Amino acid sequence: MTRNLILVFGDQLDRQATVFDGFDFQKDAVWMAEADHESTFVWSAKQRIAIFLSAMRHFRDHLRNEGIIVHYTELSESSEKTTLSELLQKALLELSPQQVFFTRPGEWRVLKGCEAILRDSGIPFECIEDAHFFTTPDEFSEHCKGRRSLRMEFFYRELRKRTGILMEPDGKPCGGSWNFDQDNRKSFPKQGPGKTPSGPFAKVDAITREVISLVNNRFASHPGTLDSFHWPVTRPAALDLLRDFIEYRLAKFGSYQDAMWKDHHWLYHSWISAALNLKLLSPAEVCSAAETAWREEKAPINAVEGFIRQILGWREYVRGVYWHFMPDYLDLNTLEATEKLPSFYWNGDTSYACLKASIQQTLDHGYAHHIQRLMVTGLYALLLGVEPRRVHEWYLAVYVDAVEWVELPNVLGMSQYADGGIMASKPYAATGKYIQRMSNYCDNCPKNPSKRTGPDACPFTTLYWDFLLRHEKTLRKNQRMAFQVKNLDRINENERQAIREQASKLKEESHQAREDFAKGRS
Ligand code: FAD
Ligand code: SF4
Repeated sequence: MTRNLILVFGDQLDRQATVFDGFDFQKDAVWMAEADHESTFVWSAKQRIAIFLSAMRHFRDHLRNEGIIVHYTELSESSEKTTLSELLQKALLELSPQQVFFTRPGEWRVLKGCEAILRDSGIPFECIEDAHFFTTPDEFSEHCKGRRSLRMEFFYRELRKRTGILMEPDGKPCGGSWNFDQDNRKSFPKQGPGKTPSGPFAKVDAITREVISLVNNRFASHPGTLDSFHWPVTRPAALDLLRDFIEYRLAKFGSYQDAMWKDHHWLYHSWISAALNLKLLSPAEVCSAAETAWREEKAPINAVEGFIRQILGWREYVRGVYWHFMPDYLDLNTLEATEKLPSFYWNGDTSYACLKASIQQTLDHGYAHHIQRLMVTGLYALLLGVEPRRVHEWYLAVYVDAVEWVELPNVLGMSQYADGGIMASKPYAATGKYIQRMSNYCDNCPKNPSKRTGPDACPFTTLYWDFLLRHEKTLRKNQRMAFQVKNLDRINENERQAIREQASKLKEESHQAREDFAKGRS
């Protein structure tokens, strides 16, 4: 009979996790399960399904090689449709453990589902706080107390002081400043980024090959392709990726972190988000590796601080927001957006060059960098007025690093402003000229980012002005939008009408394309 049953979910693949403390090889066992519902409740892309299944199977084998008993339900081409809760319920009946332990899952839905099943079973259980983060949800809630508004910057500075990361012995921030953002907004010169480091793409072994075949057959109609799958699915492969980033890309990460370039998907980013979220890497070791590079003068402070800010700052902050505001957060829609998501998000079938490039690389690799997510796909959905829930479902489905605790605040809050300013102090609204400044996409597009009306008007520029017109009243109340909204005063009524009509046409085209797409899918 099993004494302690340890539940391990798909994004908890670390043998050093505290849930294994005191694990007894003779008396205890691990439970893991592949439930098909986890890949279908949002229409998950093939890359995302494959990374989870392959990483889970590798972790299972790693545990078994150590002599640990792992009760594992494997998905096959013919296995029944199931949910995680159903599989857990069945396992508890079969194994009747004396106690159950698990680490806080990455989704509110999974936490509540498990708690309900365990409560019904009558088996004592404990949910253990996840030590893979610098902070706990309780600490974040403590930080929120007494604050009228939340800002990542203050939380980040608190964490710098508390952890000592990038701090001098006298308590001052390394490099003499908390923030080097002004150095981190460069675009590439006219001739482009040149040859960029190619990275140690992970090898596809027998387990991953089997998973790829399963996904291609069982989830054949799901978005994207597995023609090139190279994500790390083990800790050694994730460590290789981290080492390679520190050695070859970190030094230029800061300067070019916002830049985009056609056919350059990877640039100077780290590509470690999925490895971090699966717990193949720990944020502490990642930050420490970056700080060491600065202390050894291998990378400048703007790059290292910029990188650490993403992990110690943004990553911890969004997790705090998620647990503090869930479950209500999921339904927020401050701007009352109701449009459907255009169908080209699922297949890249659009002539708008920036959207085509960002979506196609997403479908091919399950990856796009932050600015592509925020200022191309996210921006278009915001300006078009897509219902935030639909935008959230897309982001959760298509990225290899998508887990709700990190995806939701980034999408709903940062990119769609649906939380009314918890994540961002103002909507990230811009015209196509921002994209023109940060990339070469517009050079390859039939549209003109400077035009807001007319046959060659850029849809971002049209929709930007339409967005300001639609939300003029609300946005005028936001000090940080004052400059942008003031520009509306220079637009006469005729021009306003032309903008509205052009925006309506874009929405109609999007509805038509969506209907055609839905017919094709059914
Ligand atoms: P790098 O650019 O090299 O950054 C380093 C690391 O910092 C990342 O690996 C990531 O762990 C962390 N990081 C950077 N920005 C953020 C952020 N805003 N929030 C949390 N962590 C951050 N990240 C996810 O991990 N999963 C998601 O589902 C996700 N969805 C997003 C949706 C939108 C609309 C936006 C705007 C951002 C989203 N992000 C998400 C954050 C960020 O875009 C990705 O972490 C990053 O692009 C991953 O690529 P990278 O590893 O090369 O990151
Ligand atoms: Fe994108 Fe507009 Fe530039 Fe075309 S012109 S690439 S749609 S920003």
